[in-house]
Amino acid sequence: MSTILCTRNITVDFDGFKAIQELNFQMKQGEVHFLIGPNGAGKTTLLDVICGKVKPVQGEVLFKETIDLTNKQEHEIVRYGVGRKFQAPAIFVGLTVFENLELSMKQNRGLLSTLRAKLTDGERAVIGKQLAMINLEDRANDKASSLSHGQKQWLEIGMLLMQEPELLLLDEPVAGMTQTETEKTGKLIQEIAKSRSVLVVDHDMDFVRKFSDRVTVMHEGKILCEGTITEVQEDSRVAEVYLGR
Ligand code: ADP
Repeated sequence: MSTILCTRNITVDFDGFKAIQELNFQMKQGEVHFLIGPNGAGKTTLLDVICGKVKPVQGEVLFKETIDLTNKQEHEIVRYGVGRKFQAPAIFVGLTVFENLELSMKQNRGLLSTLRAKLTDGERAVIGKQLAMINLEDRANDKASSLSHGQKQWLEIGMLLMQEPELLLLDEPVAGMTQTETEKTGKLIQEIAKSRSVLVVDHDMDFVRKFSDRVTVMHEGKILCEGTITEVQEDSRVAEVYLGR
């Protein structure tokens, strides 16, 4: 399988503090890849570098082996096919679930000027399929403000999918969710990974165990180890950093 993303020798410097140090990260196409590690390890900063929010002082970010994202602007990186979900969902609470997806679709197709134009049957069908995937079929005409915390997160994932990203970056997607919502989110991520790649930052080890293809453990801005969840859990260095030595 080909490499969807790799970083070469990335260093991030926040006023002299190196949040990421000479990092070489890699993930394959079609993978659900988790980034784990103690607080402050640099996980969110790595997502920030990939989506262009934070610029490294050295190193490169390569998408699909040949596309250099390092010096690209955030909006350009979105266009190359990288979608980023932050912890707080960016949805329009005054619009319905359907309208949120519609807006996202039109935005992606550069059709904002025709916001009031009627959707074609084909476009309706695409939105319908998306609603089913994010478990919100029966909430299509409800205001987004009436959704539960978990449902809001799914709606935002649905909106991101409307942009047709090849790589989806999710920062703690199940934080604050109920057990049932967490389970559904895991299944949604696996469904997404049938046609895309997903990189997830999360702390919930049960969630990681159940839904990861591969795991990278970060510590103090570096990669400590990587492999399947079983492999990394058997690595004594992982237990050491989590227990604080
Ligand atoms: P994680 O996601 O693994 O918990 P982060 O990537 O959020 O870790 O942070 C890594 C380190 O970088 C932390 O010590 C954090 O305090 C620091 N850091 C993150 N963002 C900034 C920033 N904008 N300015 C200064 N320090 C930062």
